[in-house]
Amino acid sequence: EELVRDPSGLWDFGEERPRPGVRSIVAELPEGITYEAGNHLAVYAKNDPELVAWATRCLRLPAGQVVRVSQEGERSTHLPLGVPVPVELLLTEFVELQEVATRSDLETLASFTECPWTRGELARIDYAEDVLAKRVSVLALLERFPSIALPLEAFLEMCGPIRPRFYSISSSPLAGPRRVRITVGLVDGPAWSGAGRYRGMCSAYLAGLEPGDTFYGYVRVPSPPFHLPADPATPLVLIGPGTGFAPLRGFLEERSLLPDAGPAKVFYGCRHPEHDWLYRDETWDADVRVAFSALPGHPHRYVQDALLADAVGVRDLVDRGAYVYVCGDGVRMAPAVRRALVEICGEEGVSRLEAEGRYQQDVFGG
Ligand code: FAD
Repeated sequence: EELVRDPSGLWDFGEERPRPGVRSIVAELPEGITYEAGNHLAVYAKNDPELVAWATRCLRLPAGQVVRVSQEGERSTHLPLGVPVPVELLLTEFVELQEVATRSDLETLASFTECPWTRGELARIDYAEDVLAKRVSVLALLERFPSIALPLEAFLEMCGPIRPRFYSISSSPLAGPRRVRITVGLVDGPAWSGAGRYRGMCSAYLAGLEPGDTFYGYVRVPSPPFHLPADPATPLVLIGPGTGFAPLRGFLEERSLLPDAGPAKVFYGCRHPEHDWLYRDETWDADVRVAFSALPGHPHRYVQDALLADAVGVRDLVDRGAYVYVCGDGVRMAPAVRRALVEICGEEGVSRLEAEGRYQQDVFGG
């Protein structure tokens, strides 16, 4: 794990056209840390103070309490042991607070209430439908059932350590070896549980950083590989709607700084040109085709439609040795793009691209 410090700028893609749902963030890496276009930046976030305040209320902890965590047995733990720690710090920097409650959490919660009604309600919960699908957390259950008096130690046993979140790097080291840019979509909306708002931990944390702040993380090389071919003359087909454009921007930046770069086609998609077209003001030496899913009358709704509409051009680049890159939603978009490429190049053609490492994906789900 390496320190990532001094984000030297935070942008909302220009003042005139603010896009509140996505942040483009530039961070400065510590000396000696290097990266390549297509790598990931893993980020360790902290919980939001409002969320921590909610947790302390649900757990009925007095403000400013300091605790010493101890552990029975030899199990390893992510918590700081044997030192006095303010509870707020413990809840801010050491545990995930919004994870879905498990079945065994429900049993534990039932054991900390004397109230027969609450026990009955907990027993009647359909776990898959009422908890898992709605992503209900232990804290949300404590709020819903105030007769549960959950001790801090039992709560800490239920919480996992803070997981790093990954962001596809949106810049090239050729533009500045110690500066990385990431493109972060904010997770923020009415909670699926039906109670209150849900803010994604890491995206909210990154969006709240000020220039000059320090955050922690490390550079990760994706596996399977996701990087440009060694020969800059190799043609590229880049497909990445929404925040899936993140690493493709890094590739385009890299190509713009190399002599004799080969041709590139970009297939980008978003809802509406006036609302969520990321990096719209940037121009690259590439054939850019955009699909808009919420613009009536526009010829392409999704990137796969735009690909099919340019089948001859795509096929030509593939025949000339193009590398194909797909980034973004792995659940619906990536399979739909593969189906479109099969229509264009045939199953055999796509299988050959895959076998030769010329079909690279950086996809994430859910
Ligand atoms: P979390 O706190 O982790 O919450 C997300 C979870 O909450 C999800 O399970 C989601 O289903 C659930 N959820 C969403 N909305 C609600 C709701 N209203 N109520 C209840 N639950 C809800 N992201 C980018 O923005 N840009 C990138 O370039 C990028 N690259 C990635 C590359 C890789 C390889 C991977 C694996 C992921 C990438 N991601 C990227 C996703 C990113 O890592 C995070 O998952 C994302 O930012 C959300 O993290 P978070 O901490 O903000 O949300």
